[in-house]
Amino acid sequence: MLNYNEALEIIKSEIQNLTLKTEEADIFESYNRILAEDVIADVDLPPFDNSAVDGYALVFSERNEWTIKSEVSAGNYSPVSITEDEAVLITTGSKLPVNADTVIPIEDVEVDNGKLSLKPGAFFKKGLNIRRKGSDLEIDKIAVPAFTKIKPKTVAAIASCGRDKVKVFSKLRFAVLATGDELIPVREKPENDKIRVSNIYSLSAAVKEMNHTVLNLGFVKDDKNVIKEKIHSALESNIDFLITTGGVSVGKYDFLKEVFEELGVRRKFWKVNIKPGKPIYFGVFEKNGKKILIFGLPGNPVSSLVNFKVFIEPAIDYLFKQKETEMITAVLQNNLKKRDGKRHFARGILFEENGVWKVTSEFSQSSGNLVEMSASDCLIVLPEEIRNPQKGDIVKCIKI
Ligand code: AMP
Ligand code: MG
Repeated sequence: MLNYNEALEIIKSEIQNLTLKTEEADIFESYNRILAEDVIADVDLPPFDNSAVDGYALVFSERNEWTIKSEVSAGNYSPVSITEDEAVLITTGSKLPVNADTVIPIEDVEVDNGKLSLKPGAFFKKGLNIRRKGSDLEIDKIAVPAFTKIKPKTVAAIASCGRDKVKVFSKLRFAVLATGDELIPVREKPENDKIRVSNIYSLSAAVKEMNHTVLNLGFVKDDKNVIKEKIHSALESNIDFLITTGGVSVGKYDFLKEVFEELGVRRKFWKVNIKPGKPIYFGVFEKNGKKILIFGLPGNPVSSLVNFKVFIEPAIDYLFKQKETEMITAVLQNNLKKRDGKRHFARGILFEENGVWKVTSEFSQSSGNLVEMSASDCLIVLPEEIRNPQKGDIVKCIKI
């Protein structure tokens, strides 16, 4: 059976064959999209020499008294030139008077009857408090590179390059289908042996959290022909990923693998040496040069979401050259049972104490327990070689 890292590498090598589309996005709507072009400065940034503070602009000399000549405020520039004994009242961001080379902050001066003097002990040096034209970035240089995820901090730089529209990668399109005779709609009350369908909602939310789009295909019974029909039409639709849940293990009514094979999906792997989520199936469907990646995930709500977080999410980050998910190093607060050579992803709760991350994990760790999953905020990664980690051990955690 494949180990976790081997399986993830296979997914990464397939995902990079997807053809990425691009589109124009209004910067107002561009939050969390990924840039598909370098954004270039069309002007120097800042575009002119200006004052970094509210103060007095002057020509530096050894003197410490000046006559206030005039004033200039941001956006209301008119060319004035000054002599060594003159100063101009200036506001932050205002363009500098023609020959001024220094600005003294307003806090460092005393003003008396149109005369300005330096407060005793004020620091005064040529070139102080001036933001030079092009000092942030020169014209024609890259302000924001392609593959940057657009965040509030990025948008101002894009806007200042004169761009109200940018080229971004189109969102990936997912379809999610659940299978199982036991499933009923959420609004119905479970009777006898039925359970409410829940995992399509967690998986759809996981797709949306990554800012991609998802089509909810609902759920179907464990009837091979019905499943085949549904998946056949999904494969004909305009999607990049198909995620199914349930029916992918070794049970008598687990038809998904057969159905995929019969529909021409090329299996890349089935089963990975992990817990939970071991029965994961991964395959590729190709038609007329277009590829769809297929993930057959187990039905357990915990297993399917763990599969998404540890396989699909890192593979998409890799595709868009995003940083790998940050792992938090924490001190385990209780003993955990792990007797096998699988990689475990245990649910835990992180907290910080005296600057040190700690993680508690006093859960049943049942892969069917969606209430525990809801209460947890991380997956504790227990690599293959680890056995029965003890309180006080250092572990890595993935935030969820
Ligand atoms: P399976 O992967 O089909 O063997 O299902 C494993 C477990 O997950 C069973 O207990 C199912 O009842 C449960 N399960 C399957 N599909 C779903 C679903 N869509 N939502 C919630 N639980 C499910
Ligand atoms: Mg089933």
